[in-house]
Amino acid sequence: MHSIKSGWLWTLLILALAMSIANAAQNVDADLGENEIKMGKESAAEVAKEYKFSDNAADLKRVREIGAKLAAIANKKQIKALYGSPKVTPFNYTFEIIEDKDINAFSVPGGHIYIYRGLLDFVQSDHELAGVIAHEIIHDAHHHMVYLLRKQASLNNQLAIALLATMISGAKSADIGNVLTGLQLYQIAKLNGYGQQAERDADYGAITLMLDSNYNPVGLLTFMERLAKRPELVNYGIYQSHPLDADRVKAAKAALEELNLPINRRETTNAVCAQVATETVDGKELAEVTLDGKVIYIPAPTIDKTSLQRAQEAADRINRALDSQIQMYELTVDPLVGGVIARGEALFVISDADAKLMNKTPAQASKDGADTVRNVLWRQLVDTIH
Ligand SMILES: [Zn+2]
Repeated sequence: MHSIKSGWLWTLLILALAMSIANAAQNVDADLGENEIKMGKESAAEVAKEYKFSDNAADLKRVREIGAKLAAIANKKQIKALYGSPKVTPFNYTFEIIEDKDINAFSVPGGHIYIYRGLLDFVQSDHELAGVIAHEIIHDAHHHMVYLLRKQASLNNQLAIALLATMISGAKSADIGNVLTGLQLYQIAKLNGYGQQAERDADYGAITLMLDSNYNPVGLLTFMERLAKRPELVNYGIYQSHPLDADRVKAAKAALEELNLPINRRETTNAVCAQVATETVDGKELAEVTLDGKVIYIPAPTIDKTSLQRAQEAADRINRALDSQIQMYELTVDPLVGGVIARGEALFVISDADAKLMNKTPAQASKDGADTVRNVLWRQLVDTIH
């Protein structure tokens, strides 16, 4: 009925859109900063209307302290971007906890970050929580929403019409964000996510950002590894807003390796680990290695090493072995000299002097130690990491 008119309108629309995208592409940085803060404020107001925020003082303190440390770095330092823009734009970051059992987190532009109760329950350390918060900070710090809107503008007719209306009314064409309501923006952030490339960048940037903090970037990896083992959560929030697949986990691991960071999962999870404690017996300091609540090794001092040195070395080797995905059958007891062997490497050697301190024979002490390590390996296999 209106074919001539609407045909003309569409031509104009497409032309205008093409111009706007070309224009926007030339003014990438024009959308950053003030515009983001403005759209962020509107989105944050929508989020506050829709969700119940936590008023648990201890949890808020935890989230906000970690968040503030990471935000201070992002506000000062340029962090390499694989997607988006690394342009440093200081934001007044805010952190809220949403009372919802989903394992989720999201951000809206301008530094508004939301962590779900379910995610707080799921993380096993501050390092993991910091990994998630750093990831969300990078979405904002690298201006992902502005880049996403530009992409959406080229795909989404409704948005194109809104864009056209803005242009006709004489607004600056680069102000794409202004034609969207806060609600639309936050729905994009929450439901559609920022896209695969942006997720990779947020992971990579989070690792880089954490390097300058006192949090271990391995926390982001262990969080993702554990989540990736929970396919039943696939329809839940974080999978939708942050698509998580094996490739993304692999990419995060590769980034850590590229930075030569030791991947010690025991530092960022509550997986059982070998620990060293000291006690003074008859005026001499002796160290013991405990695993899973049991004393498995009391090394006597030797000519060149103290008891504490030997204990520390043994604990480090045990933890590395537990982390290296060794199988239970790869753990053996040395039949000649007392000791526990993993894949041909001695985790700890038990001399007569050591065994005496444990009131056992070297063979008994070795068997008991190996049993405890195997037990931990078994539980690891059934439930936790990797
Ligand atoms: Zn994300």
